[in-house]
Amino acid sequence: MANSCDVIIIGAGPAGLATAAALKARGLNAAVLEKSNAVGAVWLRHYDRLHLHTDRARSGLPGLAIPKAYGRYPSRARVVEYLEIYAAKFALRPVFNAAVRAVRRDGRGWRAEAGENSQTAPVVVVATGLADYPHAPTWPGMETFDGPILHSSSYRNPAPFTGKRVLVVGLGASGGEIALDLSEAGVDVALAVRGPINVIPRELFGVPILAWGLTGRLFPARIADKINAPLLRFAIGSIEKLGLKRLPKGPLQSIEEDRRVPLIDIGMLDAIRDGRIKLRGDIASFAREGVDFEQSPAERFDAIILATGFRPDLRPLLPEARGVLNATGAPLVSGRATAESGLFFCGAIPSALGQLRQIGVEAQGIADAVAREARAA
Ligand SMILES: Cc1cc2nc3c(=O)[nH]c(=O)nc-3n(C[C@H](O)[C@H](O)[C@H](O)COP(=O)(O)OP(=O)(O)OC[C@H]3O[C@@H](n4cnc5c(N)ncnc54)[C@H](O)[C@@H]3O)c2cc1C
Repeated sequence: MANSCDVIIIGAGPAGLATAAALKARGLNAAVLEKSNAVGAVWLRHYDRLHLHTDRARSGLPGLAIPKAYGRYPSRARVVEYLEIYAAKFALRPVFNAAVRAVRRDGRGWRAEAGENSQTAPVVVVATGLADYPHAPTWPGMETFDGPILHSSSYRNPAPFTGKRVLVVGLGASGGEIALDLSEAGVDVALAVRGPINVIPRELFGVPILAWGLTGRLFPARIADKINAPLLRFAIGSIEKLGLKRLPKGPLQSIEEDRRVPLIDIGMLDAIRDGRIKLRGDIASFAREGVDFEQSPAERFDAIILATGFRPDLRPLLPEARGVLNATGAPLVSGRATAESGLFFCGAIPSALGQLRQIGVEAQGIADAVAREARAA
């Protein structure tokens, strides 16, 4: 027999907690089902060096700012602490060790199947994040490689790589920071970068870049990019000179039109510039002792770290939902009504203007929509 509540929320990460708090503020009671045994479980296992790349002032969830004492770019441990105090402030009590296997229709509402923790409600919010879906591409000969090949989500710190030659594959936020982490520990590290990218500094004239991004929204993205271009070049120099290719569209236009998130430089470019991180192009194939590149000679490596992102596939979780996922199982929309009544996603689509900020906006939007429906019913 399942318990019933106003809203079921799956996941007690930032998105699940923010949605539960926003619903509570509107007098609605949510059951938060969390498969691990803590809030912010994913942040508990991120790599040690991690700090927010987005600034504190623009990364807090609705109703509680991140404390000033945590610094402008709080550490991973501080983010976990913040999520704990957030849950405590709004008296959110997730049900832990409650892994939802599937969400099915239950009359006009939904039933989340989680064994003895199963719940029914008119509304379900899927806030399961991306962390469970590491994307690992394959290359010819990969199975013959002698050393470890791990995804960035399994990387913790440089210690296991001391004295080794490491190839980090992919220059996104994680790839760049992991390469930097390894280089700062004296590890011989190369970074394989396939396509063009946009890079922005973490701050411009001492002002967090997110603040500039938000100001840029006063203008059409293409125009704002044109205005910002000389400033960005001044702040980060020419990435082409380092051997990187720049996207034809500027950062804001790429975000708006292609959902491509620019890389926030937290020191990677300097490390590439002075040779602490070596830049390589696309991988052609693997061999027992290393990697063959498309454009440069083969090299020996002892370990490979795939910083190749995440690709959520929610088809097993939502076997009966129609018209809400794309062909590979990623949500089509996030933070607003879907094609299925009473089914929402929060934080499901990466946002370039700060995912935590976006999660807050979506949580409020979902809570408003659910409260409106509840009043009308
Ligand atoms: C390395 C890294 C750095 C980041 N840095 C920033 C940054 O600086 N600024 C920023 O704005 N954003 C950042 N992000 C992006 C984003 O803000 C975080 O990933 C954030 O944690 C997303 O919150 P979430 O609640 O959507 O997902 P998660 O934090 O992944 O939480 C999802 C929760 O759902 C639970 N869950 C999953 N499946 C089930 C199930 N079937 N049943 C029950 N529970 C389930 C999980 O255990 C987890 O606790 C970063 C992301 C990464 C990976």
